[in-house]
Amino acid sequence: MDISFSAQHQAFRDEVRTFLDNALTDEHRQAAAFCPGMFLDYEYNMAWHKVLYKQGWVAPAWPKEYGGTGWDLMQRYIWTTETGLAGAPTTAPMGLGMCGPMLIGHGTEAQKAYYLPRILSGEDYWCQGYSEPTSGSDLASLSLKAVTDGEDFVLNGSKIWTTHAHYANRMFLLVRSDDSGKPQDGITFLLLDMDTPGIKVDPIVFASGTHEVNQVFFDDVRVPKKNIVGEENKGWTVAKYLLEFERGGGGAARLHTALGKLKRFSQATDTSGQKLADDPTFSKKLHEAAVQVEAIQFTEFRIMAAMAKGGSPGPESSIMKTLSARMNQYLSELMVETLAFYASVHQPQARAVGQNVPVVGPANGVTAFPRYFNLRASSIAGGTNEVQANIVAKMVLGL
Ligand SMILES: Cc1cc2nc3c(=O)[nH]c(=O)nc-3n(C[C@H](O)[C@H](O)[C@H](O)COP(=O)(O)OP(=O)(O)OC[C@H]3O[C@@H](n4cnc5c(N)ncnc54)[C@H](O)[C@@H]3O)c2cc1C
Repeated sequence: MDISFSAQHQAFRDEVRTFLDNALTDEHRQAAAFCPGMFLDYEYNMAWHKVLYKQGWVAPAWPKEYGGTGWDLMQRYIWTTETGLAGAPTTAPMGLGMCGPMLIGHGTEAQKAYYLPRILSGEDYWCQGYSEPTSGSDLASLSLKAVTDGEDFVLNGSKIWTTHAHYANRMFLLVRSDDSGKPQDGITFLLLDMDTPGIKVDPIVFASGTHEVNQVFFDDVRVPKKNIVGEENKGWTVAKYLLEFERGGGGAARLHTALGKLKRFSQATDTSGQKLADDPTFSKKLHEAAVQVEAIQFTEFRIMAAMAKGGSPGPESSIMKTLSARMNQYLSELMVETLAFYASVHQPQARAVGQNVPVVGPANGVTAFPRYFNLRASSIAGGTNEVQANIVAKMVLGL
């Protein structure tokens, strides 16, 4: 595995760094740094989305013919790493990272021509309607009912944990269109407009006080059948294809950034002149975390090496997803430990971009506690750690 950059890739990295230096404003950096959740708020991720769209870099993983950058694997890695190290905001994954690649793989020419440019420009903002109150890990058991009426489906039921449904104007979703055979055989993949009559979005507020996810109710919602992706009752294939993209992303760079922040904080002296970094117990934890982040980095390299040879991320993406989720959670725990009682001060106003209010404790620490809470969800969202472990047991260990 050769992990050195060619001269061409080094030049590309310099170009990316120059772009980030010029394009990232204080507001962008603050929005990313103050984001307590897994998903950046609509206003700030779209502000960054528009900058990238103007530059032609909003869809690093899409082929050029569809408006993507057409970058090779190494360029995409450099981009992810440099944006992570620079503390750039993230873009919302539902359109660019999931719906777009899914349409490129399975959409009709008309669907691609209509939706892809609108994802790129930011005109359309998508949410993902997979999970239901009684179907998460066992997704094939989903029951949101779709009954045929003329040229339409009529939908009744509910989706839950729908990230950013309160911002989205579109949803891609799975519906139960036939329950006579195997559960996987009667599922249809649909696209719908969120302003269709009969849709109601109810907020679910996390323990940290942030609002990212929702429950969405469907009461006789009519969706034209031309909005089916793939074939009627054959949506399971499309659904699984999309999940590869949802779980594929890694990005050890953001772990390195979080670790660096933690190291800086632990170097601060307290009122008695002591540093947490000098405490042997804490220092051991920090060094163990650093070793694990390095191991995650090399897992990412292994995935890249496999993909460079024409393979797919495969079960390694499950390993990567689990390790990254655990490490993110662990680093957030160490950050709370570092800040001690300052972590527990409730001061949401101090997390507002551009605010000028007095902060209790270190200004960069105001997200520590909400992040600690919110990151509990990272081992659940996108497939739980236990489900990823089952995949690894089956696909890697052959159990
Ligand atoms: C922050 C967040 C955002 C989300 N965003 C979205 C979204 O935008 N759209 C969407 O559709 N969904 C979304 N989800 C839902 C997410 O995909 C589900 O929560 C997840 O798939 C788990 O499903 P569940 O919550 O029903 O838990 P369950 O499947 O009921 O699992 C409960 C527990 O049982 C364990 N378990 C289940 N099956 C097995 C098994 N076979 N072997 C071992 N253990 C098992 C699980 O690991 C878990 O610990 C989001 C979730 C979160 C937390």
